[in-house]
Amino acid sequence: MAAIVLFRNDLRLEDNPAFYHACTNCDAVIPLYCWDPDPLQPWAPGGASCVGIHQALQQLDDALKERGSRLCVAQGDNTSILQKFIVDHKVQVVYWNRRYTPQAIAADTELKATLQEQGVAVHSYNASLLTEPGSVLNKSGKPFRVFTPFWKHCQTSVQIRESYPLPEQFKAPVKEPDTLELQSLKLQPAMPWVQTMKQSWDWEQDFSMEKLQTWCEDTLVDYPDGRDALAEYYTSGMSTALALGLLSPHQLWNAVTAAVTQNPALDSAATAFTRQLFWREFAYHLLYHYPETTTTPLKSEFNDFPWREDTDALQRWQQGQTGYPVVDAGMRELWATGYMHNRARMITASFLVKDLLIPWQQGAQWFWDTLLDADLANNTLGWQWVAGCGADAAPYFRIFNPVRQGERFDPDGVYVRKWVPELAKLPDKYLHAPWTAPAEVLTAAGIELGAQYPNPMVDHSEARDAAMTAYQAMRQTRLVESTP
Ligand code: FAD
Repeated sequence: MAAIVLFRNDLRLEDNPAFYHACTNCDAVIPLYCWDPDPLQPWAPGGASCVGIHQALQQLDDALKERGSRLCVAQGDNTSILQKFIVDHKVQVVYWNRRYTPQAIAADTELKATLQEQGVAVHSYNASLLTEPGSVLNKSGKPFRVFTPFWKHCQTSVQIRESYPLPEQFKAPVKEPDTLELQSLKLQPAMPWVQTMKQSWDWEQDFSMEKLQTWCEDTLVDYPDGRDALAEYYTSGMSTALALGLLSPHQLWNAVTAAVTQNPALDSAATAFTRQLFWREFAYHLLYHYPETTTTPLKSEFNDFPWREDTDALQRWQQGQTGYPVVDAGMRELWATGYMHNRARMITASFLVKDLLIPWQQGAQWFWDTLLDADLANNTLGWQWVAGCGADAAPYFRIFNPVRQGERFDPDGVYVRKWVPELAKLPDKYLHAPWTAPAEVLTAAGIELGAQYPNPMVDHSEARDAAMTAYQAMRQTRLVESTP
């Protein structure tokens, strides 16, 4: 029996249930990737994700070739492409791993129905989440809207399966299928941004099982206390591997569990880490139950929030030219590498929505386009959390002070000096608030504010007051509207 395995956000061979079952049950297996390039689709992969997808497809093809098979790449509408392959290669069954964004669920449901109508069997599996979205409900049968009870429930009720091994045989089809050259998909345009971002990573190593295991051995122990430190990178750095499907959450879970078996003292660090993995689960759980939240606030009163439209301010934020060093460091790290530390994501996002009063959706769109680990569920949850309008959000009045955040999480200024090198010679005391430095200190550091480095684009305490006034105005509107 001939089968197609449709690869999507699961660009790996190990712990890939669809690929494993196809290779185990069928005589010939066609590994297929269809690129549907319509940029008008909502949440089509952003620029950075495209770069990651190209790299991941290349690696997947190399890994298949080492084992006597290869990846078939096609471009266009999934259904028509599949139908052509099915006819050309007498395929009777299609395997895939399920996707969980609202658009993907709708597309895959339709595709499955079309194939089944034509007599082609479809087998689908969960490969990218530890829980099946929709399956975790509270005692009243409703979705959890707060993380801690969700996590406590999962800790006692969710069983994590073992990772799937590599299939024993890779059964390439007798007749070689057509394929496009990967380059022809044009996922990596010749832009300096793409080159710099690509060069920031060792694609063979950085998102690999080997790297994960080394991290478990060397760094997991420091994760609970170190995960907020901006300069040190005590976190796993595995979000890109998860977003592209180079590794599965099961592999992450099983790797830390194995590390605890080796060294029981790691138990509490492992729990701190797996708790973060369940934030990702919670994000998918929310997206599944509230699919509109990619663009709409979950707390509907925020529909009346008096946001500002300010293209110039948005651009200064995007370019890391706000005049707040820790904000600018985060935004420049993102642009240079396609990654940003979680603490910096919270600080920069808060600055956009609270200090500049720019809609969170505009920030989410920028992150979507520039993050290598862009993930619709996590990005939506992160932005709604910071904006105060999500299911389990920070209270609106908790507004990050970018100077204090910098002093607390980058006390020696290592992070700021790396990404904002024009401030490198400024003493630590003034690094997170250069405008407070005496003129002679600035001169000695070679800085003229407004020339080499901008003055702060807003005064934080005034911006905080403005944010609170906007919040009160929103609540007032709500009160008037709900008065009978
Ligand atoms: P680790 O600390 O090593 O955590 C391991 C894994 O747990 C991560 O890879 C991730 O899958 C998950 N995780 C950790 N923290 C969170 C969190 N706060 N929310 C959800 N899952 C989490 N993460 C993305 O993967 N893609 C995004 O597009 C994304 N956008 C974000 C936008 C904003 C405004 C904010 C505040 C956060 C966003 N995050 C996003 C969450 C978080 O910042 C990243 O997952 C984390 O920085 C990735 O680094 P790591 O793999 O070293 O994390």
